[in-house]
Amino acid sequence: MPVTHHYDIVIVGGGIQGAAVAQAAAARGYTVMLLEKTALAAATSSRSSKLIHGGLRYLENGHFALVYESLRERTDWLRLAPSLVRLSPFYIPIYRQTSRSTLVIRAGLSLYALLAAGSGSAHFRSVSQSQWQQLDGLTTKGLKHVFQYWDAQTDDRLLTQALMHSAQSLGAELQCPAEFIHVTLSSSMCEIEYQQGGRINHCSATVLVNAAGPWVDQVLHRIDPQPPAYPIDLVQGTHLVLEGRLNKGCYYLESPADQRAIFVLPWYQHILLGTTETLFNGDPEASSPLATEETYLLDCFHHYFPEKNPVVREKFSGLRVLPASHGAPFHRSREIHLQCDSSQKPHVVSIYGGKLTVCRATAQKVLHTIMPTLPDRIPKADISKLMLELP
Ligand SMILES: Cc1cc2nc3c(=O)[nH]c(=O)nc-3n(C[C@H](O)[C@H](O)[C@H](O)COP(=O)(O)OP(=O)(O)OC[C@H]3O[C@@H](n4cnc5c(N)ncnc54)[C@H](O)[C@@H]3O)c2cc1C
Repeated sequence: MPVTHHYDIVIVGGGIQGAAVAQAAAARGYTVMLLEKTALAAATSSRSSKLIHGGLRYLENGHFALVYESLRERTDWLRLAPSLVRLSPFYIPIYRQTSRSTLVIRAGLSLYALLAAGSGSAHFRSVSQSQWQQLDGLTTKGLKHVFQYWDAQTDDRLLTQALMHSAQSLGAELQCPAEFIHVTLSSSMCEIEYQQGGRINHCSATVLVNAAGPWVDQVLHRIDPQPPAYPIDLVQGTHLVLEGRLNKGCYYLESPADQRAIFVLPWYQHILLGTTETLFNGDPEASSPLATEETYLLDCFHHYFPEKNPVVREKFSGLRVLPASHGAPFHRSREIHLQCDSSQKPHVVSIYGGKLTVCRATAQKVLHTIMPTLPDRIPKADISKLMLELP
């Protein structure tokens, strides 16, 4: 087969993880090509809750290192992408029937503030009773306490596009739509086939980065010889976009059905309500909101905002890649896992799991893993100083 071009790194997947690896790798001076079969951020990276956050609820599960790393990353996003990531006030109401007590929430927020120390957005406060009526129609029946703290919101699709734009301005190539078909590994090289415009193209790379999100195992099956897989479950999360507006900020609620955290967020001129955790089997392409998920979310919304009559204008679902386990998805680790074909000099790295918030840190971990395989290159830029903007 004629090999038309050689790259240091070929990345499969134009979600936020692929875009972040492309930017970090191009900044280090590597030659990079990214293959995306549909459109940038076409999958999970446009179907998230759109939060750049430490993840207050992960404290409950003892994931302190992840929360600390995420809060550091939040600070960097606010500095590097001020037009795309902004702080919003978040309200946590505590009712007589809320399972987490005021004391527990206060302790969680104190720890969150401690882990965010020095970021300028670490503080939280109690909202006085006289202000409860101004909270967008939040029911005050049985309300005991309201806390307010800060986290950040973004537009996940635009953030992915901005990262890829930055990567391209550093020389990375984007092929989109272009589907990765197959790779043959030799001791020093990856020989890659991809399909674009009805044609099969060939190229080679020193390293292949599998950033295919929920398709990570599908891509793995197209690698010859196939590296070991990492056992995962796909867990669907649905969001609803409702007519109407929130004027005060974001609400962090406890679902009355199962005590999970539910967010009610301002989203452009509307309201974003999410999310669910439903085990998913099958082709990721087939993920779509279920009627039971819609009912679950609307029941929660009605419970807290009984005066609002929500009209659903849009719904979407995305798939989380979580470590396989018998435990409830809500309690499973959100840490990334990098699976390589070799521990010394890997030619294939697959990214399992992760979060929008920590994608830049994940990209650094990927680079650290593959640098022993790659030739020396002269760095082009320091990404900790590169501002992110839309094209
Ligand atoms: C419901 C939900 C809510 C979330 N909320 C948050 C949040 O608020 N904050 C946060 O930090 N994180 C959140 N996350 C996590 C975050 O959204 C994901 O970690 C992140 O978007 C995953 O990005 P990715 O690039 O790995 O995958 P994806 O965005 O899914 O990208 C993978 C890409 O690979 C492409 N692809 C697949 N196969 C091929 C192939 N053969 N050839 C070429 N391209 C291919 C696909 O088309 C796709 O575009 C949430 C996740 C979910 C599911």
